[in-house]
Amino acid sequence: MASLKIGVVGAGIGGLTAAIALHRAGHDVVVFEQAKGFFRVGADINLTPNAVGALDALGEKVKAGIRRTAARPTHRLSRTWDTGVETSRLVMGNEAEEKYGSPQLTIHRADLLAALAEDFPLERVLFDKRAEAITQDDSGVDITFVDGSTYHVDVLIGADGIHSAVRTSMFGKENPRFTGVVAFRAVVPASKVANVPNLQAFTKWWGPNPQSQIVTFPLNRGEDIFIFATIGQDSWHLESWTTPGKVSELRELYADFHHDARALLDACDEVLKSALYERDPLPAWSKGQMTLLGDACHPMLPFMAQGAGMAIEDAVVLGRALASVKTAAEVPAALKRYEDTRRERTSKIQLGSRGNEWMKEGGNADWVYGYQAWNVSVDGEAH
Ligand code: FAD
Repeated sequence: MASLKIGVVGAGIGGLTAAIALHRAGHDVVVFEQAKGFFRVGADINLTPNAVGALDALGEKVKAGIRRTAARPTHRLSRTWDTGVETSRLVMGNEAEEKYGSPQLTIHRADLLAALAEDFPLERVLFDKRAEAITQDDSGVDITFVDGSTYHVDVLIGADGIHSAVRTSMFGKENPRFTGVVAFRAVVPASKVANVPNLQAFTKWWGPNPQSQIVTFPLNRGEDIFIFATIGQDSWHLESWTTPGKVSELRELYADFHHDARALLDACDEVLKSALYERDPLPAWSKGQMTLLGDACHPMLPFMAQGAGMAIEDAVVLGRALASVKTAAEVPAALKRYEDTRRERTSKIQLGSRGNEWMKEGGNADWVYGYQAWNVSVDGEAH
C-alpha cells in the first residue's frame, strides 16, 4: 500500500477529485481550503461525457451524488445570433451515453462539491486555511498559512485556482490577463419560458464576433434554465462569482439577438456579472515534490465549457500517476508522467477556448468528449 503524506491546496472541483483519487490509492491526504466551509456560490458546471466518466469511476457515491440534481441536456445546438439558423446539432442524452459510456450532466457547482465531499473524509479538509508561503527542500514541502500555522507534507498539489499561490511559489508571480470579455450569469425557471424551443438542449447562440455569445442549458433536473452570456467590454474588470449586474444592461447588449434568445433574457429577474481572465499555457507544471492541476495551471475562457472537465481529468490522471509511488524519491518522475500525459490536451483546449470556433459549424466532438482519464496511458504506470 502506498503511503505518502500529500497536501492539496484548494477544495474546489479539481482539489476534491484529486483528494478522493489519492486517498483511494492509500495515501495520507489532507486538503487546505481558504473558505470557511462549502457555500452555495456560483451556478452552472457543464460536465461533458469525458468529465462524467472520470467522476463516475471514483465510486458509486460520487456517481449517484452527481445525478441527484443534475440535468441531462438533450442536444448540443449552435444557432446564429440574429437569424436563429441552426449551424450544428449533436444529439446528447442517451445517445451520447451509449457512444461515450457516460452522459452529459449540468449541475450546480455546490451540488457537485457536495457529491465529492460525500466520498472523502471531511475531517481531512481543513477550512479557513489560506496558503501564503510555500517552500520545499529534500525533506518535503512546508506550507505557511495566513493564520501563521504551518504544515509539512511529502508532496503538495496546487489546486488553488486561477490566482494560485502554489503556482506563484513555484514559478514566480505573474498575474492572469483580463481578456476584454465579461460574462453575465442568470437562472430562470423553465416554466417561465416554456414557449422557447429546445429548452432542454445545450444551445450556443454564436454572436457577431467571437467574444459575443449566449449559452443556455437546463439545470436542477431541467426545472431551471441557466443563461451564460459574454460580450467584449473593456470597462469592467471585476472578477467575481457574486457581484450583481444590471438586467437592463443584459437586455440592451443583446437587443439584436433572435427573439428565442431574447425571450430568456426578458425572463431574468437578476444577473451576476464578472470579468473573464486567463493565462497562456504553462510550459511546466511540476517542480520537485510539487505540481499543479486545473485552473492553477491552465485557466481558460469558458467557450468550450471544459474548465471543470480539465481539472477533473487532471485529478484522475495525477491520482493514477502517484498510485503506486511509495517513496518521496519516486515523486518527481511520477509528477513528470502526470504532466506529460496532460499538458498537450489541456493546452489545446485552453487555446481552442480562446479562439472560440469549436463546434460552430459542426465537426467531431469525440476528441474532447471521448477522452478516458482512467484508461489513457500514463507512461510508466505500474498495473
Ligand atoms: P477552483 O474551482 O477555482 O477551486 C480553487 C479552490 O482553491 C477554491 O475552493 C478556492 O477557495 C481555493 N483557494 C484558492 N486560493 C487558495 C489558497 N491560497 N489557499 C487555500 N485555498 C485556496 N465555474 C463555472 O463554470 N460556473 C460557476 O458557477 C463557477 N462558480 C465558481 C465559484 C467559486 C467560488 C469558484 C472558486 C470557482 C467557480 N467556478 C465556476 C470556476 C470553476 O470551478 C473552475 O474554473 C473549474 O472547475 C476548475 O476548478 P479548480 O478546482 O481548478 O479551481
